[in-house]
Amino acid sequence: MTGDVTGTMRAAVLAGERLVVSETSQPVPGPGQLLVRVRLAGIAATDLAAAATGIPDGTVLGHELVGDVVGVGGGIAVGGLLGIGRRVVALPVQSCGACAACLGGDPVHCPMARIVGTGPGATGAFAELVAVSRHAALPVPDDVPDDLAVLVEPLAGALRAVRRAGVGTGDRVLVLGAGAVGLGAAAWARAVGARDVVVSDPLAVRRDLALACGATAAVDPTTNGTAGAYRALGRKRPTVVVECSGTDEALAGAIDVLGRGGRLVVASLHTGSVRLSLRAAHFKELTVAFSAWYEVDDFARTLEALAGGTLPVAGVVTHVVGLDDLPGAFTALRNPTDQGKVVVDPGR
Ligand SMILES: [Zn+2]
Repeated sequence: MTGDVTGTMRAAVLAGERLVVSETSQPVPGPGQLLVRVRLAGIAATDLAAAATGIPDGTVLGHELVGDVVGVGGGIAVGGLLGIGRRVVALPVQSCGACAACLGGDPVHCPMARIVGTGPGATGAFAELVAVSRHAALPVPDDVPDDLAVLVEPLAGALRAVRRAGVGTGDRVLVLGAGAVGLGAAAWARAVGARDVVVSDPLAVRRDLALACGATAAVDPTTNGTAGAYRALGRKRPTVVVECSGTDEALAGAIDVLGRGGRLVVASLHTGSVRLSLRAAHFKELTVAFSAWYEVDDFARTLEALAGGTLPVAGVVTHVVGLDDLPGAFTALRNPTDQGKVVVDPGR
């Protein structure tokens, strides 16, 4: 490796349902990898679900990141667009860099891929340093600030979901859940020409963020459920539902509220089994798809949109905490009150 970083670092590691801050070994970038000093890392719903999805204790979580290249592994030039000193975002993956998936811009589906922040061997971004593959990293334009760059991963996931739903001009879109992916789905849906974008979320702060991100209305599903809250608006049925809430009620609500021939894309992780009545889905001839990943091009298009000002997501990051305050912030997000996106600044 080339760079000036060796030894140990501070990181937040998974301990049951919680995080604890401890001193751990620094990742050493392998061939084709960059060592990145984390500027900001976002807390995602999948991090909160880590224990439920079988991620072992001791794992350093965190897969939404922006940071500076401080070291490079073998086979990489020290300088250049992704050289030492560059500010980058990256798909959270360490992969081979040589297979068809890697060369095609889809490193997540490399047979050798290890997803950063989800298990042993590929430590995550809730740490001072993280190693990512160079071919999964992109330089951040100077006019995209850190608190937007840290959103690129969920926004790229949202772009993928909106694409998989085939959202286009004239669509009426209902987005369930206004976390970063849901807010991104609302912003992308407007950007690609959706006529109407309604966002449903129980938190007032997130409904306000949805409106700021381009939603034409925001509703609270708490009292009458998703479908009831949508119907109360008096609008035509949605043509598309993007499920970003992770709640089972949302899936049933989506089937209920969609019109004939509607499309449902499930972009959030549902960790358990779900019982759904499919009679309505059958007779409405709904299309259901899932969306979990992204490619390098999704990141590139997201950075372009952020630099060009076409994704109005400023303000989505509402809280920045240091590493010492991350465990408390992580636990608090299980019952959020006033939080939009919460990010950690490990250098704080
Ligand atoms: Zn590969």
